[in-house]
Amino acid sequence: MRRENYFDYAATTPAAPEVIRAVAESMTEEIGNPHSIHALGRAAHVAIESARSKVAALVGCSPEQIVFTSGATESNLWFCAMEGSLAAGTWEHSSMREGVRRAGGTFFDPTQSAPTADRLSCILVSNETGDMTDPSALSTTAVLHTDATQALGKIPLSLEALDFASFSAHKLYGPKGIGAMYIRDGHAEPWFIGGGQEEGRRSGTANVAGIVGFGVAAELALHRLEHDFDHAQQLLSVLMTELDLPGVRPVRGRDASPYILALNIDGVAGQSLVEEMDLRGFAISAGAACSSQSTAPSPVLLAMGLSEHEARSTVRISFGRENTEESTRDLAAHLTKAIQNLKSLK
Ligand code: PMP
Repeated sequence: MRRENYFDYAATTPAAPEVIRAVAESMTEEIGNPHSIHALGRAAHVAIESARSKVAALVGCSPEQIVFTSGATESNLWFCAMEGSLAAGTWEHSSMREGVRRAGGTFFDPTQSAPTADRLSCILVSNETGDMTDPSALSTTAVLHTDATQALGKIPLSLEALDFASFSAHKLYGPKGIGAMYIRDGHAEPWFIGGGQEEGRRSGTANVAGIVGFGVAAELALHRLEHDFDHAQQLLSVLMTELDLPGVRPVRGRDASPYILALNIDGVAGQSLVEEMDLRGFAISAGAACSSQSTAPSPVLLAMGLSEHEARSTVRISFGRENTEESTRDLAAHLTKAIQNLKSLK
């Protein structure tokens, strides 16, 4: 598959060349345990702290407020495991939904007023439709968390009203398996206990190369934020213009990220369209990558008001750095043919 035909950036992004170089170099050079006191340990420690500063700069906080985790799933589950009653929006990623269920929490419509709870979580950008919510607008005194995975490095962030936020490196051209939790006051009950790493907040030998890669990805994203945003907006508008088909309807509210476009296609199963597009050399998805093996309709799309039938006939296209206007036009042409083809088979 040609790289510019990859339209599934919300599932994951290819690591940036600068990230790959930094990760390889870190694995070659920074061979010590960052918690050892000898020179090689100290060098690895310095590399981690430098990366922490870069992630903090992108997020707009101080380095002490960033704790590295294995990704946004872990950060979300960490928040869910904290003390007190919990409620989360119905648009959350599966990791938050499952975490809330395990914690005995409840769900609320993020477009309505928030329920009373000790802790609230509300996703910033939906990974399924790109719809944005503003958790800081929830009128609440609860401890507030957001899953900012689809926002970091893509849209300007303001964490001012938030106590916690989850991030993942692989959505911004960093390595998979590394992420972070923003903690406003810097303190939290230990999540992983053990050797006391990450200032006692999350034990375990740090993933040095992953963290270094995350740092480089964050630094790049900070420089490219506006450029990448404009690029996504341009590709979105090209696709919307080229794909003028009856029965094809964008599933997005007024306020949505230009990086993600969910399309409801009347009379076509999302899964079949994804397979047909794969044969044509394009990667798109039917819903979130983590649940794309499932045949159940997306609970997020149902919560947004789609019927089961509509949810099953929805696909997600998501844009990134390596897509071009030309490959987006190709995508539109192949989508048109694929949709017509699938409809003719019925
Ligand atoms: N939250 C959102 C909104 C996501 O899109 C994802 C990735 N699909 C996650 C959480 C999970 O992130 P990770 O893969 O880093 O665990």
